[in-house]
Amino acid sequence: MNPLYYPDNQGFYGDFGGAFIPEMLYPNIHELQENYLSILESKEFVEQYSKLLTDYVGRPTPLYLAKNLSERYHTNVWLKREDLAHTGSHKINNTVGQVLLAKKLGKNRIIAETGAGQHGVATATVCALMNMECIVFMGETDMKRQAPNVARMKMLGAEVQPATSGSKTLKDATNEAIRYWINHPNDTHYIIGSVVGPHPYPDLVARLQSIISKEITVQLLGLTGRSSPDAVIACVGGGSNAAGAFFHFLKTPDVLLIGAEAAGEGVNTGRTAASLHQGSRGIIHGSMTMLMQDKNGQITEPHSISAGLDYPGIGPLHAQLFVTGKAKYYPITDNEALKAAFLLSRLEGIIPALESAHALAVLDHIHFDPGQHVVINLSGRGDKDLSTFLQNLDNYASVR
Ligand SMILES: *Cc1c(COP(=O)(O)O)cnc(C)c1O
Repeated sequence: MNPLYYPDNQGFYGDFGGAFIPEMLYPNIHELQENYLSILESKEFVEQYSKLLTDYVGRPTPLYLAKNLSERYHTNVWLKREDLAHTGSHKINNTVGQVLLAKKLGKNRIIAETGAGQHGVATATVCALMNMECIVFMGETDMKRQAPNVARMKMLGAEVQPATSGSKTLKDATNEAIRYWINHPNDTHYIIGSVVGPHPYPDLVARLQSIISKEITVQLLGLTGRSSPDAVIACVGGGSNAAGAFFHFLKTPDVLLIGAEAAGEGVNTGRTAASLHQGSRGIIHGSMTMLMQDKNGQITEPHSISAGLDYPGIGPLHAQLFVTGKAKYYPITDNEALKAAFLLSRLEGIIPALESAHALAVLDHIHFDPGQHVVINLSGRGDKDLSTFLQNLDNYASVR
């Protein structure tokens, strides 16, 4: 394991990571830090987790050679089809693992925060399956914007708790979840939905998502005779689908690792979520990382057309991969992502999530040769984004 890209026992990737938490949260976090690795590596967990991934989530997800897209870009473009996982994105890989972990820790209640509602739905789904009480905290503004996901969570039997403070969005929901956890440390596990937050969450979530790159190595070997591609491309909100897609290639020197972050209307427009290109070092949600802040250290409001990338920070692993140059990150604008979503829909008959469309748009920025193999992690399906696509239909009607 390269010490630069796997955390030390304090949760640091180089200078990034750690656990900067209020004292009242210490017992909860300490319990996780002490137990997560031994549970994740136990035979019982490995067996139960793999069985659920196969029978319930529908893994392995296909690695699909997108022929029409490949012809367009004059290279071999492979899509890792996380959009075909149960509930429509990679998020379920993490929630299945964390609910199992919570059971082993003797918890009977799960709490989670959600912005767009995708992580909330994945959490509510697995809680229904495993008979766990589930409370999802969600900003009141987000509940109105994402009403279909609120309905899904309620249908699955979860309680959706509105966060009514501040801007009534994701960060306020996170505050409410933390407050609840401090008051219920013994019977409750808090599922964070990305590779963010205090140690051990970034490592825990990366390990649970690493099934993505594990499958890529096996599938690519079967399909092409080589186990690593020339490049892996993934979108980055907090960074969990990218961490999962990169994981097994962090130890191979010759795979180009590429993240796509949300530039919003443009990196320098003030309407952006490009935490690496526009941000600076600081602490957010218990972790030292790169984030967007003003000169007084106040977190600035992010913007992206894609709700899943609309986050002012990024996981510490990605901050480290960025500063060391091990991975390259491209800022992709709202318009570039929209265009890429229309292109994939018309060329391949696959409607991608707006988040995943950011990764597809990277193909317009980098030239690959005809013999090369490029894997794009298609993190989710686009059904949830249909109203946004329809609002922009006229601008992209001729995309083919
Ligand atoms: C939530 C989400 C993302 C962003 O989260 P990461 O932790 O960066 O993976 C990307 N794609 C889809 C489909 C999502 O639902």
